Parts: sequence; C-alpha cells; structure tokens
Amino acid sequence: AKEKGRNDFQIFNSDMKSVSINRLKLENELRRAIIGEEFVLLYQPQVDIETGRIVGVEALIRWAHPEKGLISPNHFISFAEESGLIVPIGEWVLRAACKQNKIWQNQGFPKMPISVNLSMRQFFQHNLKGKISHVLEQTGLDPQYLELEITESMTMDVDHAIQSLLELKELGVHVSIDDFGTGYSSLYYLKKFPIDKLKIDRSFVRDIMEDPNDAAIVATIIAMTHHLNLKVIAEGVETEEQLHFLHQNRCNEVQGYWFSPPVNADQLEDMLSHGVPA
Ligand code: C2E
Ligand code: CA
Ligand code: CA
Ligand code: CA
Repeated sequence: AKEKGRNDFQIFNSDMKSVSINRLKLENELRRAIIGEEFVLLYQPQVDIETGRIVGVEALIRWAHPEKGLISPNHFISFAEESGLIVPIGEWVLRAACKQNKIWQNQGFPKMPISVNLSMRQFFQHNLKGKISHVLEQTGLDPQYLELEITESMTMDVDHAIQSLLELKELGVHVSIDDFGTGYSSLYYLKKFPIDKLKIDRSFVRDIMEDPNDAAIVATIIAMTHHLNLKVIAEGVETEEQLHFLHQNRCNEVQGYWFSPPVNADQLEDMLSHGVPA
C-alpha cells in the first residue's frame, strides 16, 4: 500500500509539473502575442427581430498563433484572466473594436453599437472609466456606439458593481448582462443596476423547442426585461423555429448561427450592404 501511495504521489507530482510547464509556456507565448499583437477580432451580427436588420455586432477575439492558426478564446481567456494578462488583451480588444466601428461609420454604414466582452479583472480595474474614455477619444468613437458586456458574476459585489456601472453610464456607453440566467443574480438588485440590456444565455435558447422549462424561462426573462424597461437579446439562435418562438415572445434582438457565425470585417461589410442571409 505504501509502494502504491508513493507511485500515486509521483504520478500526481509529474502531472503537476507538466501542467505548470505548460502554463509557463502558455504565459510566455501569450506575452509574446500581446507584444506582437497576434490577435484578431471577428464580428457577429445582432439582428432586430422585427426588421431583420443588423443593429449591432459583437466583437469576439481570436488568437492568430503563428504556428497553430486561429485559436478560440475558450483556450486562452480563462488563463489570461487568472494570470492578469487579460488586462492588456482586453485593452487591445477595446481599442480594435472601437477603431473598426469608427471605420464602418466613416464608410457610411448605418451607425450601430459594437459590443465588447469585459472580463472580471477589467471590470474591477482601477480607473476603468478613464481607460475607456481614453480609447474612445483616441479612436474618435462616440460613446453611445460602444456596448460593454459583463456577466452576472461581476455583479455579486452589488455596491461595487453599481458604482462601476454608474461611472460607465456617465461616459455614455451601454452595458449589457451577458449569459443571463446562468449565474447567480439577484432579481431584487437587477432593477437597481444601471444597465441597458439582458443577453439570454445560449443554453436556454438551445432547448426551447424541446424543453418546456427552458421555453418558460426564456419567455419569462423576456417579459421581465420589458417590465424593467430593458432591451433583450437572445444568443445562440440556430434554427428558424427558435427565431419564431423568440419573435412570438417579443424578444428584441437575436444573434446566432441562423444568421451568421462570427466573421471578419470584410464579410461583415457584405452583410451590412446586402443584409443577413435568411
Ligand atoms: P460569449 O461572450 O458568450 O460569446 C458567444 C459565443 O457563442 C461565441 O464564441 C460565439 O462564436 C458563439 N456563438 C454565437 N452564435 C452561436 C450559435 O448559434 N451556436 C453556438 N453553439 N455558438 C454560437 P467564441 O467566439 O468562441 O467566444 C467564447 C467566449 O470567449 C465568449 O462567450 C466570451 O466569454 C469569451 N470571449 C470572446 N472574446 C472575448 C474578448 O474579447 N474578451 C473577453 N474577456 N472574453 C472574450
Ligand atoms: Ca458576450
Ligand atoms: Ca454570451
Ligand atoms: Ca456564453
């Protein structure tokens, strides 16, 4: 038993070692990526359910790794969050998104907000307001055309969240709560947060046609947002049936593969010119 115990320990130990070597490697590569700006943004349209027009886009990061190609954010964002590297990465995203939106406006496309995902670290950063305001000035984007997506977990420290949100409001940017319904969130405080929009999480939308509970949850969230005078968008819309359900339940906006996956700026311009497919 003792022998086995020692082996277990060694296996555990060497696993730990390779995990930490991998993390160190990832951290070094990410630092290099930040310096070399090895990132790109893709854009996914947000569609007005009544008119079918694109009324916004969400900016989604990809790591353009020199050997591995485009890497999904699921493979590096949580690590970047833990290591703190998300702060410079997030700043790059913010600047690139504002810059691109200003370019579209200069090209004469109808003005629309660009949504940027804010990480927990960024949200609790000192002088977030100052940093965002600086980026808006540098890029010349009017604050009303920037929307920040935060998640429910960031609102758990209610006082802090309200304080940060009020500062962002003063700037004139919009704020939405992403992945709504998946985290802890007090409905009591929801009405006290100065936010503009709720984004219903994909996991509820996915099963609305099969699972009556999910259908009820989605319908209820939509009804609630109308009572609270908030806008509501459903993410992860993949089928016409889901779209129909959301339309009948008076959801304002939709985003998902039914219309388009995240695409590059050129492809988004085509959609702005010719409309989304379907
Ligand atoms: P999210 O903010 O919930 O973004 C939506 C994700 O759902 C995106 O994945 C998008 O490609 C995917 N998606 C959109 N429509 C559909 C659909 O119809 N079906 C399915 N199955 N998926 C759909 P992506 O781009 O891989 O991003 C994953 C997550 O990484 C994001 O989830 C967000 O949490 C994070 N992320 C992405 N970009 C950034 C960023 O710039 N900063 C930060 N902090 N996080 C980011
Ligand atoms: Ca998001
Ligand atoms: Ca989301
Ligand atoms: Ca999500």
